[in-house]
Amino acid sequence: MENPLAGRQLSSHANSAECFRLVAYWIQSCLTDHEQCRRRATPPPLLPTRYLNVDSNPPRLCVAEDGARGFYVALSHCWGKTQPLRTTSATIADRLISIPTADMPQTFRDAVLITRELGLEYLWIDSLCIVQDSQEDWEKESAKMGDIYSNSFLTISAAAAEDGEQGIFQPRPARLYPPVELQPRDGDYNTLFVDMMPRNTLFETPQPVDTRAWCFQETTLAPRVLAYGAEMLGWLCDSGTKLEHGYSVDHSGGMAPPLLAPRLRQPPRSSPKSKDLEFYHLLDEKQTATRTWAAIVNQYTTRRLTLEKDRLPALSGLARTIQEETGDEYLAGIWKRDLGEDLLWEVDVLLAHEVREWRRPAQYRAPSWSWAAIEGPVRLPLRPQRTAFDDIFGGPPRPAEEFELLEARVNIAGNNLSNWHRSTAA
Ligand SMILES: [Zn+2]
Repeated sequence: MENPLAGRQLSSHANSAECFRLVAYWIQSCLTDHEQCRRRATPPPLLPTRYLNVDSNPPRLCVAEDGARGFYVALSHCWGKTQPLRTTSATIADRLISIPTADMPQTFRDAVLITRELGLEYLWIDSLCIVQDSQEDWEKESAKMGDIYSNSFLTISAAAAEDGEQGIFQPRPARLYPPVELQPRDGDYNTLFVDMMPRNTLFETPQPVDTRAWCFQETTLAPRVLAYGAEMLGWLCDSGTKLEHGYSVDHSGGMAPPLLAPRLRQPPRSSPKSKDLEFYHLLDEKQTATRTWAAIVNQYTTRRLTLEKDRLPALSGLARTIQEETGDEYLAGIWKRDLGEDLLWEVDVLLAHEVREWRRPAQYRAPSWSWAAIEGPVRLPLRPQRTAFDDIFGGPPRPAEEFELLEARVNIAGNNLSNWHRSTAA
């Protein structure tokens, strides 16, 4: 057998010593071998407004002093049908003293344990670090959500947990395709395990986090994602994707990364551009960012929200990142430069049939010309990339070139996008 992939047998459970050793190895190689990842690790980022200090036992909620910096872990998880443990105006004083782990749902307890195992002190969990019954606090903090995940040292994805009670370390199910054990007669390997390569998802089977709208930007913006899938661990960083059984893809080599979520990191300017990546090398030119937005909206709108009103807020961190790169104006889910084409959005009929019916939300949420005005999967026109041939000989005209845009404007009433618009207008 030529060039077998060096693999390893899966651990019987995700909180085993071997799993933590593997995670330590992934982090170590990310910090020493990946140039662009290393750059993002210094200096320590600004701490979020509130965070959990897990160095104290039991953990407690802390308020960051102005300009305080430090490495922290963020948690990306499904809330599910049960409300996870929350901080409210009535409980915040207690939380600042202590949060007994016995009061925490299993997923939070596991996240505390992982953070401690990694040797870090700070952990950010949305339901505990944002005052849940304060509209003012929610607006202020949810506007920072993109930054909170993109500044995290690492984001834990509780990928297999449908809610807070299920926990991050779940019993591992029998694999759909168990590895095949071979005993080669010669060579460097005593035993080989032949296993499935993931196709277009990180894991073999879709995980609960893959269906949640909020989780989309959380794992897309995080510099490092440690994903606890039902079957195995996964690692995503700007440089590559790795799975516990040994599969790995180097993102800089031009191969498309499996999609836990698309990666939204700009490669270093000096690195060669790879044209065949739909998601990874997104922001190096405006045209590519435009194509990417269509792909993002297509994937994002297949996901579910607990609160219908969150359709635009749960994507605003990503929109802001793209806006910082392109300088374009964001109009309720559509970029001004692409308005001519993107007004042609349509319900993805095939998916709407599979996933759920499309419908108008119960309450007004966006102008009727925006895709955000409806519930259900939506497709923006996927534009072919303009080639050098088109530049010389003229390709098909874009709809935007067939009319003149005189003015486009949205007035936003009191949600986190208004904060964003104010800050970008400054
Ligand atoms: Zn890395």
